[in-house]
Amino acid sequence: MTSNAAPGPHQDKVCPTCGRRFAWRKKWADTWAEVRFCSAGCRRAHRPRRLAAVDEALLAWLTARGPAKSVCPSEVARQLGDEHTWRDWMEPVRAAARRLAHQGRAEITQRGQAVGPDDFRGPIRVRLVAGGGQDDPPRVR
Ligand SMILES: [Zn+2]
Repeated sequence: MTSNAAPGPHQDKVCPTCGRRFAWRKKWADTWAEVRFCSAGCRRAHRPRRLAAVDEALLAWLTARGPAKSVCPSEVARQLGDEHTWRDWMEPVRAAARRLAHQGRAEITQRGQAVGPDDFRGPIRVRLVAGGGQDDPPRVR
């Protein structure tokens, strides 16, 4: 048997649907280069235009609020849904926060402290990354 062969370097990927980081697994031994989603559920649920719309809505809130101020996902969810459906938008908005955090465009916080996009449980807030989108910090003269 050759199952002891070293699997080689397999970089983690970020699922485009849920925004979660996932690691190589043996079942993907032959297809890892093509794997995009963490699960069959995320593959089925993938709606690129809808996801982009949620990303955009969150970014618009973050931009409007300004640097160093945070947005609660429920604020964005209430805009995307109505009084009956806004809760259905909470997880999509949280997924957008994870995606943007993995891209370095936003930061997820809990109690004012930045947390990694894969390292939180419970309620979060989201804010722009300080200096996000700028290569150079403002020069102080
Ligand atoms: Zn996923």
